[in-house]
Amino acid sequence: MEKKNIDWSNLGFGYMKTDLRYVSNYKNGTWDEGTLTGEDTITISECAGVLQYAQTIFEGLKAYTTKDGHIVTFRPDLNAARMADSAKRLEMPVFPEERFVEAVVKTVEANAAYVPPFGSGASLYLRPYMFGSSPVIGVKPAEEYQFRVFATPVGPYFKGGAKPITIRVSDFDRAAPNGTGHIKAGLNYAMSLHAIVSAHEEGFDENMYLDSKTRTKVEETGGANFLFVTKDNKIVTPKSDSILPSITRRSLMHVAKEYLGLEVEEREVFFDEVKDFAECGLCGTAAVISPVGKIYDHGKEICFPSGMEQMGPITQKLRETLTGIQMGEIEAPEGWIKVIK
Ligand SMILES: *Cc1c(COP(=O)(O)O)cnc(C)c1O
Repeated sequence: MEKKNIDWSNLGFGYMKTDLRYVSNYKNGTWDEGTLTGEDTITISECAGVLQYAQTIFEGLKAYTTKDGHIVTFRPDLNAARMADSAKRLEMPVFPEERFVEAVVKTVEANAAYVPPFGSGASLYLRPYMFGSSPVIGVKPAEEYQFRVFATPVGPYFKGGAKPITIRVSDFDRAAPNGTGHIKAGLNYAMSLHAIVSAHEEGFDENMYLDSKTRTKVEETGGANFLFVTKDNKIVTPKSDSILPSITRRSLMHVAKEYLGLEVEEREVFFDEVKDFAECGLCGTAAVISPVGKIYDHGKEICFPSGMEQMGPITQKLRETLTGIQMGEIEAPEGWIKVIK
């Protein structure tokens, strides 16, 4: 198969239309058989549930080329399960988990020419999503839904090394107790836009959100989970019902314990303790881990000993090990790598 003529190493994180996407419609209580389509636009009712009441959920994962030349994805079964949880919380029908994985596989196969080569640092980003498509004016769930998966090639997250970022403690909240913080819903992002735009205007890369009830505990950023390293090399990640369970973070915790022999703890993390940690990183599919060098808290600064020039040694080791597993250079735990072709 001939690859597309794309300058892989200079791709950013943006949308590029690819050849085919997967679509399945839900009507009269059932999902249709689903198909690949070349049509990249969608026509729906002006009163569709997604447009009026934001009934939409999504996932994000990557397909990439391993060292031995296979095209694979990483733990797509966990994306399927998480999307099922998101659907239930927003009163949407679940797209069956096996079919979710199958739809991802079909979308990647159909766009194999857009999967970047091994070593480029780039990948094919996959965006499964679902939305209420039928008209809704009284507040209730839609009756019809559409599930889609599109693919878009994205560049290496860190061009020329991963420089630590500076984040601020936000005065805005991301998620309410007993709310929707634990699901991957567009609505959580709509309300984070003002906070991220104002963070950028003030010179910060990201927001650190605290728990909105007591404002004493670390939650996450707008789109990544925290991972901290203690001075005696223990890995600590916040536990909360309003955090989105990152697949990257869960994988890194496993890697820390089983591959690196480090102690791991998932527990409440009070903001007061943060100053005592040695390293801090943000976990998500896009970057795997981005190092945090500094946290700004209303005039006070927390500067991690790892500094602003490079990531801390444990963060680096975690990142290398997980990316090594993903790229087929280190043996993966059973079931982590889904080989597509
Ligand atoms: C998607 C997402 C993450 C990262 O999850 P991964 O599965 O690791 O990509 C973290 N936080 C939020 C709010 C997210 O939406």
